[in-house]
Order: sequence, then C-alpha cells, then structure tokens
Amino acid sequence: MSEGIKEHCGLFGVYGHKEAARLTYLGLYALQHRGEESAGIASFDGNSVYSHKGMGLVSDVFDEEKVSRLGGHVAIGHVRYSTTGSTTLKNAQPVLVDYSRGTVAIGHNGNLVNGAILRAELEARGAIFQTTLDSETIIHLLARPEHKNFEESLVFALKQIKGAFSLVIMKEDQLIGVRDPHGWRPLCLGRLGGAYILASETCALDLIEAEFVRELEPGEVLFINKKGPRSIKPFGESKRVAHCIFEQIYFARPDSYIFGESVHLVRQKLGHRLAQEHPVNADLVIPVPDSGTPAALGLSHESSIPLEMGIIRNHYIGRTFIQPLQHIRDFGVKVKLNPIRELLKGKRVIVVDDSIVRGTTSKARIKKLFQAGAKEIHMRISCPPIKYPCFYGIDFPTRKELIAANNSIEDIRKFLGVTTLGYLSVEGLLSCVSCPKNYCTACFTGDYPVPFGGEANKFATEYKGY
Ligand code: SF4
Repeated sequence: MSEGIKEHCGLFGVYGHKEAARLTYLGLYALQHRGEESAGIASFDGNSVYSHKGMGLVSDVFDEEKVSRLGGHVAIGHVRYSTTGSTTLKNAQPVLVDYSRGTVAIGHNGNLVNGAILRAELEARGAIFQTTLDSETIIHLLARPEHKNFEESLVFALKQIKGAFSLVIMKEDQLIGVRDPHGWRPLCLGRLGGAYILASETCALDLIEAEFVRELEPGEVLFINKKGPRSIKPFGESKRVAHCIFEQIYFARPDSYIFGESVHLVRQKLGHRLAQEHPVNADLVIPVPDSGTPAALGLSHESSIPLEMGIIRNHYIGRTFIQPLQHIRDFGVKVKLNPIRELLKGKRVIVVDDSIVRGTTSKARIKKLFQAGAKEIHMRISCPPIKYPCFYGIDFPTRKELIAANNSIEDIRKFLGVTTLGYLSVEGLLSCVSCPKNYCTACFTGDYPVPFGGEANKFATEYKGY
C-alpha cells in the first residue's frame, strides 16, 4: 500500500427496498477501503428522515440496533477519509439539512476546485456553515428560494461547482446520483429485484448480490423515484473526460469494474508493461501487499520469473494502535509488513509496489528486505513518478514532500538503497487502459484538466472536503 496517499470517499444509495439502510450498511463495508475515518447513513420511510454517523470504521459506527433504527425504503451512505485536523464528527457525511423545501441529505466523493471561492461568496451574503465540507456549499446553493422546484435548484447548484464530484443525494422519496462532467470519480447503477442501487464501485453491488446495470455517464444526473429512473445531462456541451487514473492504479478494489475496465486486469497489464520497460535478471518477484500484488503477477508472467509472497501483511491494525513503550526501530513498518527470511536469503529480488510518494516508508521496507538476506533488490513501480499535487480529491502531500518532484530517478534509487529502480512510463500506463484519452494523469504530467487558478495555494493549506 502506498504510503502518504490517503483514500478518499465511498458512496452508496438504495431506492425501493424495505431494508434500504441495512443494504447501505453492507455496501459501505465493501467500500471501506475508500475511507476509514467516518461513516454515515441517512434514510427515509415516507414520513421521517433518520440518520446516524460516527467516527471510525463502518463496524465501529454501526451495530444491529443502530442499523435497525434507520427505517425506510430509501437510504444513502458514505465512508470518508479526511485530512487530520478536520477529522471531526461534524464533517462526517451524509450532510443532512432541513430547509424550506424539506429535508435533503448528500454524500460527496471528490473535491471542488472553486469550493473555497463559492463558500466565501456565500458567507459574504450571510450564510452560516455547519461544516468545512465542499458538500455543504452544494446544499447552500440548492437551497436558494428563487427556483421553481428541487430539480431546477439542483441543476443551478451543479452548474456553479467545478472540479471532481460524484454525489448521492436523498431528497425525501427520491434518490439522485450525480457525476461531474469530467467523470473523475466512479459511480455505478445496480438493480436488486425491484430496487435501484448506486455505488462508488461494483464490489459493493457484488456483496449484496445486486446486478450491475451500468456506470453513470460523466455529466449525468440520475433521478430515481417510484416512477423509476430518469436521466438528465444539464452541463451543456461535452467536456474533456478525465477519469482519475489512480483509481485503476491503487484506490479501487481489484475486484471492481470501473471506467469500463476490470481493475485487477488493468493492474496486471501494468505489471506486464513494467517488465517490458525495465527488464532485469532476478530469482523472485515479490509484491508489496496488497495493492502491489496484481502488478507483480503481471510482471512475473511477462518475465517468467516466479512470484512469491515474500512479504506478509498484518491486516488487523485498528485505528487506535497502542505503541510499544520501548523504542523499536522502524516499528511502524514492522507491524504492518514482515518479510519471510527463508525466501529472500541470498536471492536477487524484484519488489513491485504501486507507487512511491515520500519514499520514507519504501526506504524502511527495503532496509528490512536486505536485513532478511536479499542479495539484490530491483524496485519496480507500477506508475510513473508522482511529481504534482492533486486538486481533485486525492490527498497527496505537498510538492515539497513528493520525492519525485524534487529528485532524479538515480537520486531516488540511492535514497531508497535499491540495486535498480524502474518506474512505469506515462505512455506505458496509458497503454494499459482501453480509452487513454479519457484519463486524468495530472499528478504525473502537470496537465490539469480543470485549472484551479489562484486557489492552488488555498487548497495546499486549507481543508479539503473529500
Ligand atoms: S491528479 Fe492524479 S490523483 Fe488527482 S485526479 Fe488526476 S490522476 Fe487522479
């Protein structure tokens, strides 16, 4: 798992099932990898809206009693990652508000590049915000009274915001799914008997045995109510599609199908290509588990060098981890990953990871592998060097902290202490997806699909509302 990259958010929604909240709870379980800091569900039973949110994993926040109190046939749910400092319950989603047109709940995955400007404008007119979330800006915009109905006010709000946003919205007896016109973050539609499901990733549909219908299109707003689903495309002329390629490299679960591709198969292709771009003689290929595994498989197939699970990951590290009293060197690395000495001793090893961000965790891991007896370590990274920050909802460190922004590959190799180092090229990365022109690669190339202008500095220091 890449150090320094934080997951963002996961969305789930149900319309037309008597156990909507229970299904949502299960869906959030499947999406837990997209955000571990808070979880929440809001539901509607035809008369009342219910909601429960809390800090921590889905299993920390919900139990049988809490789920059974969330009645109704409509529900939306959210799991969230946030930057430290903004990790507070008031920022947990869905955001739920009562206003002149009733009650609305909203869950957001992404980041608005004009969120801070819109917020400042709204505050200048007297708006009082309860959270520091982008999502609340959307609610303020749609609560304006000058529009005829909810749909008109939602379209008005969506046209004001810029950047990355996949949304699930519950407006009493209606479930709404939204993808921004660039399609940065995933969102798909499923069916379970007569019920409709929205989910960030198809792995959540699989868990509840819902059938995958399709992905929402970039720029699509899908209204689902008792009459069934109805789509509108309010954003006008088509914009450059810019799916986040990091979803394929790292964020999404490998058993998901997103942006028209199997994530696992894309990651395997990355490994094949990596082997072609950086061939080396070695005895073993070992992945950094878990996210390096599919690429390591591909690299092993392509190079005919055997794959071994030479590093074992501890999956059971909770949020509140009690540190040892006595100083143990590299404890953080040791507790998560442990190499198998008997496999590594005297071997030339290719270590496959999905990315390097700051480089400090990789350096500590490499040291452990040499201590375990590896003779040579050839590090292969299944994405290009990360040189630029992301303004669309992924919390990379600042440019100063990104090792590849400030160092040559040879400098990074020396810093890590590896025998050789090979990153996948941008062309190689794009050759592994079926529609390369439809991807954002700004963190590698600096080619930002939507400019962020004068807000760049603000975003570097301010809270981002993933
Ligand atoms: S800049 Fe990188 S991480 Fe951010 S949306 Fe684009 S591809 Fe994804």
